[in-house]
Amino acid sequence: MAEPYLGNPKHTIEVLQKYDFAFQKRFGQNFLIDSHVLEKIIAASDIAKEDFVLEIGPGIGTMTQYLAAAAREVVAVEIDKTLIPILKDTLSEFPNVTVINDDILKVDIAKIARECNDGRPVKVVANLPYYITTPIIMGLFENQVPLDTITIMVQKEVADRMKTGPGSKDYGALSLAVQYYARPEIVANVPPNCFMPRPKVGSAVIKLTRYGKPPVSVEDEHLMFSVIRASFNQRRKTLVNGLKNYSGLHFTKEEIESSMKNCGLSMNVRGEALELEDFARLTNELTKFIK
Ligand code: SAM
Repeated sequence: MAEPYLGNPKHTIEVLQKYDFAFQKRFGQNFLIDSHVLEKIIAASDIAKEDFVLEIGPGIGTMTQYLAAAAREVVAVEIDKTLIPILKDTLSEFPNVTVINDDILKVDIAKIARECNDGRPVKVVANLPYYITTPIIMGLFENQVPLDTITIMVQKEVADRMKTGPGSKDYGALSLAVQYYARPEIVANVPPNCFMPRPKVGSAVIKLTRYGKPPVSVEDEHLMFSVIRASFNQRRKTLVNGLKNYSGLHFTKEEIESSMKNCGLSMNVRGEALELEDFARLTNELTKFIK
């Protein structure tokens, strides 16, 4: 197998010129051109020779080459059909890579894991298209995909949101969802000059290690995520009003207040002050009112 060579910006420019490639803003195309960052991502993702890796959005195949050199098998899903002939070229010497031309939000990833990895947990590595970061991450967690780790490049602000707790303006539904399913760890901050073209925002690599068992115990996961969404839907409102006004929930004010009282929560508290543990306890209390 060949050595990865696309981490060198000179080679990226050659490939882009050879194919007269036009960047598509609507697909969030910012290609990595820094070999140190690529090596850091590969090191953080702990890929071993027997691993199966799913890459989301390979672009011209820069990170794919590094993944192919480190793993047993790589499946890369790319939406932009103009990149497919380019990937065929840049990955021609990496026989353990399969490219699928599709929208990752429409792909049955659990099926890929079953077929390519006998249903064992997969590693996901990606320099994500920023316009759909949240649906991609939530889709991976909620669709019963067997997961080991997700090591991804995201907008810096989104990485902060995933890690933070109560008291920060960045704290919200994404923080709680990520922290329910996985342990987040920021691996590197990456400035705009590591990409071509340069994005307007700073980026960060974050590694999410999936918990075998979530850190809190909740009877109805689906209800907890509705309660969380309701609580952050109207940040300036009290938790009671947030829960009462949310269209997806049908509890009376009395049921909400009684549940909050049983959790020792003040009637004036705002949702943004609650930790994951509080949301789990509150959900378990509210579950008692579901007939
Ligand atoms: N991995 C490459 C790199 O690091 O240089 C490219 C990263 S670029 C930020 C994001 C890539 O995701 C682009 O190649 C883009 O075309 C692709 N993409 C965007 N939306 C996608 C989707 N819904 N499904 C699959 N790929 C997508």
